[in-house]
Amino acid sequence: GMIPKVRSWNLKDVKVSFPKRATFSHKGSHGKGLVIGGQELMPGSVALSSRAALKAGAGLVTVATMERNIPVIANYCMEAMYQNLSNFGHIDLAGFDGVAIGMGMGRNRTAKTFVEDVLAQEDVPVIIDADGLYHLKELLGMLQERRSPTILTPHYGEMAMLTNQEIETIKKAPFTMAKEFAQEHQVYLILKGKYTIITAPDGTQMVNATGNAGLAKGGTGDVLSGILLAFIMQHESVLEAMNNACFIHGMSADLRIESGQNTVIDLLASDVIDGLTNVFRTMS
Ligand code: AMP
Ligand code: MG
Repeated sequence: GMIPKVRSWNLKDVKVSFPKRATFSHKGSHGKGLVIGGQELMPGSVALSSRAALKAGAGLVTVATMERNIPVIANYCMEAMYQNLSNFGHIDLAGFDGVAIGMGMGRNRTAKTFVEDVLAQEDVPVIIDADGLYHLKELLGMLQERRSPTILTPHYGEMAMLTNQEIETIKKAPFTMAKEFAQEHQVYLILKGKYTIITAPDGTQMVNATGNAGLAKGGTGDVLSGILLAFIMQHESVLEAMNNACFIHGMSADLRIESGQNTVIDLLASDVIDGLTNVFRTMS
C-alpha cells in the first residue's frame, strides 16, 4: 500500500515534543534565521517564508533578497530585517542559527553560487527548497561533507529531478527512494505530498498526514520552509522539529477549513500563516 510500516506523527507527539516558550526568554533565545531567495519576479516566496518563520516563533529573521523587492516584502513582513542580495558575492552566515535558501530564487548561475557558498559554511543548519534544490543538483557532492544538518524539502517533481528518475518511479516507491537518498547524501529529507514522508540521514522515517487539497496552491511550500526554519532553530532534535513543522503546517490548513474561515478552494498560503494561531492555541 501507500503507507508501509512507518508511523504517523500525531498531535500528542507534537504536544510532548514542542519546546515551551520560557517566561524570561528574549528574542535571542528563539533563533536568528536567514531566508535567502526571491528573485525579481517572485518576491512573494520569501515574504511568505519569513513571515511564516516569525509567526512560528522565530526570534529574529533576516531576508537576503533583491534590493528592489525589499519594500514589497517588508510591507508583508515588517518585523524582518533585510540584506541586499544583489550586492553579495558571499553571504556571511556567522551569527545565524539557521538558513532557508531557494524559495523563488530563480535558476540563473548567480543563484547557484549562493547555494554553493551557503553549503560551504558548515556550522549552521541549512534548509534547501524550491530553486535551491535545482541548483543543488550540481552540488550533491558537498552534502556528505557538511557538519551541520542539511534539510531538503522536495515535492515529487523536485525529487524526480534530484534523483534523475521519472515522477512515476518516485510515486511507486516513495519511502524507498527517500530513504536511499537521505542515507546516501546524509541529509534530512521531506518528500512533500498528500502524505509527506520525513526521513533522517540514518534512515528513520515518519509520515505526516495532516493537510488538505487547499494546500495544492502556490506558496504553501514557502510557508513550510519558514515554519521549518523557526522550529529547527529552537529544537535539539532536527527530526522532531521537522515532524512538528509538517504536522502544524497541515493542521493550520485543516483548522482553517474546519472552522469555516476558508474552503479548500479559497485557502491561500498566507491563510496557513494566519492560521498558525489556531494551532498554537490548542497546544497550551
Ligand atoms: P510545494 O509543492 O513546494 O508548493 O509545497 C506544497 C505543500 O502543500 C507541501 O507541504 C505539501 O505536502 C502540501 N500539499 C500539497 N497538496 C496537498 C494535498 N492535496 N493534501 C495535503 N497536502 C498537500
Ligand atoms: Mg515548493
